[in-house]
Amino acid sequence: MTVLDAHTHMSGSPHDFLAMMDASGVDRALVFTLDGLYVDPAPYNDRLAEFCAADPVRLIPFCSVHPRYPGAVPELRRCVTQLGMRGLKLHPWAQCLSLLDSSLDGIGQELERFNVPVVFHDGTPPNSSPLQIAEFARRHARVPVILGHGGLHDLWKEAVYAAERYPNIYLTPSSMPMHGFRWALARLPIERFVFGSDAGLGDLYWQPFQLAKVRSLHLRPDEEALILGGNAERMLARSGGCTAAFRG
Ligand SMILES: [Zn+2]
Repeated sequence: MTVLDAHTHMSGSPHDFLAMMDASGVDRALVFTLDGLYVDPAPYNDRLAEFCAADPVRLIPFCSVHPRYPGAVPELRRCVTQLGMRGLKLHPWAQCLSLLDSSLDGIGQELERFNVPVVFHDGTPPNSSPLQIAEFARRHARVPVILGHGGLHDLWKEAVYAAERYPNIYLTPSSMPMHGFRWALARLPIERFVFGSDAGLGDLYWQPFQLAKVRSLHLRPDEEALILGGNAERMLARSGGCTAAFRG
């Protein structure tokens, strides 16, 4: 069984980051920038590519762009086709970006063309409520849309409603309260959950703590394996990244 953390942020050195994963028992991770969300993302995407090149099997880079900046679509294309990025991370709240902004149309079309997923920060109004992100998922039904916090503490129920409505929405339940996580498990197919810890922002114990939360539910081993890695592995295998792009 592979444990794949679908929500981490580049921090420290690749060596230290991999050591954290080893200590937590995490095999692979989707890795995002942080500063690349706010300013010209290209240097941060370059740094992320370099960081993940330290172990390309275990560290899987997801680029960031600001959709409203001119050049966002070409930067996304560069990251996927030239840097081998496997998806996109957006943070509409921190980026002051409405999900109804027309700049997202070009981004969504590019994600469809390259067949890669997008991870959204979610759970914080005004711009990152799950149902706002669901509108993006509706318009781009072929793009896997990961809610990176499963609605957080206040909007977890809304996240479940969003996922019930659109089959391309996946929940990362690490930031949900445990009773919300259980409620979600009772309503959604197990295939719609991916483990993600937000590691890299906090201390070294955050990743194992988030893993322990999933394990504390004592799910059937096959269900636990899907949440902790199987579902994300399947999503990555289905998404083509640059290979699909070169196919046209
Ligand atoms: Zn995060």
